[in-house]
Amino acid sequence: MTIPWKRGTDLDNAGGDSELNLIPRWSIFLSVIVFVATQYLFHGYLPHSKPGMLPMRMMMSYSSGTAFASYVLLIGYVSRDVKRRKMSASLWVLLVILMPGGIGAVVYFLLRQPILSRCPNCTTELASDFHFCPQCQFQMAPACGKCFRSVQITDVYCVQCGHDLAEDHSPARLQAYRD
Ligand SMILES: [Zn+2]
Ligand SMILES: [Zn+2]
Repeated sequence: MTIPWKRGTDLDNAGGDSELNLIPRWSIFLSVIVFVATQYLFHGYLPHSKPGMLPMRMMMSYSSGTAFASYVLLIGYVSRDVKRRKMSASLWVLLVILMPGGIGAVVYFLLRQPILSRCPNCTTELASDFHFCPQCQFQMAPACGKCFRSVQITDVYCVQCGHDLAEDHSPARLQAYRD
């Protein structure tokens, strides 16, 4: 038996399009600079009024440095992610930068469009939550054989209807996970 959705994931991996690969180099580079600059700000620039406060100051500098650095990484991620969703890049990057406290990023993750991928069989454009291709019935993700809702590759029973997934003659890879 063929495993159509397995072929689908192999195609995705071949593109090297994992979420972490989306973060551009400039943003990783910039986040390191931002982190170091924050450490300098706390330890070199601000006056050392109370020497006994050093552990506190180290904690403050480390946590805010990490927060600023992740913010830069997040902006880098959004700048790439927005393009593969065919949304307006300049608008969303500006929004994420300008809205304070990461609210822009939260709004972005709530409103972003699903990624369009292509059916490996007939190249129809598909949203990421499709289980089957609407044109050729190509199976994109593992699904329950009874209620046809999506299941995890490691599931033994369907979480929606309790169907025993072994009865669907699941591929050997599923069986391997069970033992
Ligand atoms: Zn198709
Ligand atoms: Zn089910």
